[in-house]
Amino acid sequence: MTKYIFVTGGVTSSLGKGILAASLAKLLQARGYSVTIQKFDPYINIDPGTLNPYEHGECYVTADGAETDLDLGHYERFLNIATSQANNVTTGRIYQTVIDKEREGAYLGKTVQVIPHITDEIKRRMKLLAENGKYDILITEIGGTTGDIESLPYLEAVRQLKWELGPSNAIVIHLTLIPFLKAAKELKTKPTQHSVKTMLEIGVQPDILVCRTEKHLNQDVRRKIALFCNVNQNAVIEAIDVDTIYEVPLVMLKEKLDRITLAKLKLSAKTEPDMDRWKDFLTNIHHPTNEVRIGLIGKYVELQDAYKSIHEAFIHGGSVNGCKVNVESIHSQDIDPQNVAEKLQHLDGILVAPGFGERGIEGKITAIRYARENNIPFFGICLGMQCAVVEFGRNVLGIKDANSAEFSPKTQNPVIDLMEEQKKVVQKGGTMRLGAYPCRLKKGSKAAQIYQKTTIQERHRHRYEFNNKYLKPYARHGMIASGINPKTNLVEIIELKDHAWFVGVQFHPELKSTVENPHPLFSKFITAALDQKIAKEYLVKQ
Ligand code: GLN
Repeated sequence: MTKYIFVTGGVTSSLGKGILAASLAKLLQARGYSVTIQKFDPYINIDPGTLNPYEHGECYVTADGAETDLDLGHYERFLNIATSQANNVTTGRIYQTVIDKEREGAYLGKTVQVIPHITDEIKRRMKLLAENGKYDILITEIGGTTGDIESLPYLEAVRQLKWELGPSNAIVIHLTLIPFLKAAKELKTKPTQHSVKTMLEIGVQPDILVCRTEKHLNQDVRRKIALFCNVNQNAVIEAIDVDTIYEVPLVMLKEKLDRITLAKLKLSAKTEPDMDRWKDFLTNIHHPTNEVRIGLIGKYVELQDAYKSIHEAFIHGGSVNGCKVNVESIHSQDIDPQNVAEKLQHLDGILVAPGFGERGIEGKITAIRYARENNIPFFGICLGMQCAVVEFGRNVLGIKDANSAEFSPKTQNPVIDLMEEQKKVVQKGGTMRLGAYPCRLKKGSKAAQIYQKTTIQERHRHRYEFNNKYLKPYARHGMIASGINPKTNLVEIIELKDHAWFVGVQFHPELKSTVENPHPLFSKFITAALDQKIAKEYLVKQ
């Protein structure tokens, strides 16, 4: 039977519930258990696909085409297993199901209510991933913070499930904050006491408390928390601030979070977790032998979370190269032909980010021209690839009005155009080209060399594509399509022949990069940037 762990959060948001869930899952997986994680989000959007990155950070896309919360990215990066549509559920989706059923007549004669109808649907979905018998342990992260009105139905569902499944089959881990008051030179436990009281009012007693803190918790503080919150003292776990999220599993291992969890679930903790590969990865990122500077050019650069998976993929790829990757975020709106050299000349590589809408496009195109003409390694992702195609059309083929139909619907030369199947789409939510598609790589191309394969699968999220009418003239001038969808002939990868490293991809490779499987495009892009840097230093010395 699958065992359930619920992770809730108290006191404030942004304490890192997703990282905690992923870290615990990693340790349990490293002990030989099969584990998966799902997230329940309390907002009413059906999925985060329609949310602005400023609101909610990056939208993560699963292989089966779900637009999900960015925490699913952490789950995949830590566990190295794919998540799916079922791993992220929102209040919007729960209500939609219940309301659809009401219209079908499924509840005829009954008043449809939050309890039991909404809570039953939550419980049904909470148990869904356990049905196939594949997982020993199912971790469920509840979005939001205890005390929020909108997360109440989820906590009520947790209360009922805990009761129905029994204490050794379902436990609650509550992540909370122990602030340090500088003036008093003291760690304060009161917010945690209150947060647990709020849980108790709903009828949920946390089994384990994980306490985020800047300072170590001494035994007195732990005793006090245990006493006021009805948990064992050894179940008060310290989660001290660390430099990188990838340290968290090891910090939790030291605090015995995995052992205590297994004991509560009456599961054996016989085998020690095998974290050797994880430790090697950390050693590489802590002791790099080299460093490079990469410009990340986008329009949501004020918010790190907007490009979360790209930042993480750079860490994975850096580790493989024994190289620290300093990512410099540059606002595309700030780049123009006059200042481009000043802004970009110190960089060893340039990545132009994915995105939607016209703002900042000309800056991206200017940056790409600079990378192309100065032989600086260039990596374009989705919109970044589309901008590279527009730039090449305008400045190499001399098509002055080359553009994407997204920005200039009436251009005579839509080198990037709306995909055929998108032309009839009117609804916005969940209607892009989403999820994993196969792509065949051209023999002898840079792409084939990078992947060391002939066919790959990568994840997509876009509406526009390379316009195949321009394939031949582009190829004649040196921009080739080195990755093609075998069924639809859509161009998935473009590259330049005569350049140090110039690759644009229509898909999102960053979504598949994990600690154990860094993405080859990121690893090889960093290698190219490193080569470039070494060559530049050599020239300066001469
Ligand atoms: N806006 C572009 C499109 O829809 C690119 C999308 C993206 O970068 N994810 O095709």
